[in-house]
Amino acid sequence: MNRLVVMKFGGTSVEDAAAILRTAQIVAGRVAKGLQPVVVVSAMAKVTDLLLSAAATAAKGDRASALAITERLRIRHRDTATQLTAAGSRDAALGNDGANPAVVATHAWMDAEFDGLDEVLRGLAVVGELTPRISDMIVSYGERLSSRMITEAFARCGLNAVHVDARQCIVTDAQYGKAIPQDAAIERRLKEKVAPHLAEGRVPVMGGFIGSTEQGVTTTLGRGGSDFTAALVGGGIDAGAIEIWTDVNGIMTADPRVCPDALRVKIISFEEAAELAYFGAKVLHPATILPAVKKNIPVFVLNSKNAENSGTRITAMAPHCSSPFKSIAAKKRLTIMDIVASRMLLSHGYLREIFEVFDKHRCPVDMVSTSEVSVSLSVDSNEKLPAIAADLSKLADVKYEGRKALICMVGENIRGQNGIAARVFQTVRHVNLRMISQGASEINMSFMVEEDDADEAVRSLHAEFFSDPDPAIFDVEAVRLGIGSRE
Ligand code: ADP
Ligand code: ASP
Ligand code: MG
Repeated sequence: MNRLVVMKFGGTSVEDAAAILRTAQIVAGRVAKGLQPVVVVSAMAKVTDLLLSAAATAAKGDRASALAITERLRIRHRDTATQLTAAGSRDAALGNDGANPAVVATHAWMDAEFDGLDEVLRGLAVVGELTPRISDMIVSYGERLSSRMITEAFARCGLNAVHVDARQCIVTDAQYGKAIPQDAAIERRLKEKVAPHLAEGRVPVMGGFIGSTEQGVTTTLGRGGSDFTAALVGGGIDAGAIEIWTDVNGIMTADPRVCPDALRVKIISFEEAAELAYFGAKVLHPATILPAVKKNIPVFVLNSKNAENSGTRITAMAPHCSSPFKSIAAKKRLTIMDIVASRMLLSHGYLREIFEVFDKHRCPVDMVSTSEVSVSLSVDSNEKLPAIAADLSKLADVKYEGRKALICMVGENIRGQNGIAARVFQTVRHVNLRMISQGASEINMSFMVEEDDADEAVRSLHAEFFSDPDPAIFDVEAVRLGIGSRE
């Protein structure tokens, strides 16, 4: 039996000392069962956002406000470390932390890290230009700090934990902000840096989200990228399972923040989970599934605040489900671009030229629909759009409009079922639909709406399609008992 398990804990699972101690217990539980965990952790909740805002503030020349943000972060990390030490030591528990050598040592390395960070921010305030490379360097501090602090906490809780700098393992290209991992190099590095610890029975702990180029320059994998790190590590060490520990009971039939009656999906296919992640279900990073699919490693989504719950299992094959859909995702902050070019009518190479523009600006396209003279595309609303529109206007007339959302309904059972589309569109008949797509993937039906209509559309669709859920697939017991998604 393969005993290797990658356990990834997201920001809320390590948000404070109590959460970190819960995490330690969960890991200890796996060790007690004879499993060998490799732990991947995110930055403490909200730290990534705060680091990004410190960077943006410094780049505007407001040095004092940027340093005020890092000062608050420094205090938060120091306080958490003090509390974590208190949990394992009588001296600190007595409030004597100044004299406690463990706390002093932890505060010393944290101060050195924060001093380094402040140095970068001071330089940035002078230069006034935030490059993606500097942004990655600044934002990497979140995971660098959390992973080291959590390793120390684990050791104090009796785990044989060892810190591994993720930047020495996750080799990427140099596309700062959304770097592409280099699988073969990662596998080699994991053999060098992680495998020996596992052979000695240690629990390696590393930060998610961060990596570095072959030359050793810090990079990041994009927002939410710690899930991706977990999957890369799982794939790289041939783990028997990957566990994504978060703040909800698993993948739900809709985002429980939008739809309070969302149900836990007990089992879902890789393909369905990947569509959901790509189309906005924040619970998983879109690229997470790929390294797991390649090696057929099951992925579990679990709740660190409710560790007994069996979560969601993501597997190669979806079992039969009597409901047409498994889940509804919504992706907001999208823009629709309408490209109209009557003079290009029937000329071949037209679509290629259009897509070359998006390629040049490295701007992914979510949805496409074409007519004889026009193409509509949906893209993430981003600062590159005016430049993209300017390039496209050399080929065609271009209009674009933001504040759109994509609603994506996912399920293996859409294949070959009659009347499903009619039911979907009847349910959202009061909503102005902008683009519709079904067919690119047989398991996804998507359409664009105004962003302000998105939540209501998700709730109406959820009420229509999940009123009689299949108990083999969905956790109907939780509904009967009135249990929410986070308990
Ligand atoms: P973490 O910090 O653990 O990575 P995230 O905030 O990235 O956690 O993802 C968890 C959140 O994803 C949940 O709190 C929930 O609001 C949101 N979410 C969106 N869609 C879904 C879904 N279909 N199922 C579960 N959670 C979802
Ligand atoms: N800390 C990073 C973020 O907030 C990565 C992650 O948590 O997955 O985006
Ligand atoms: Mg996440």
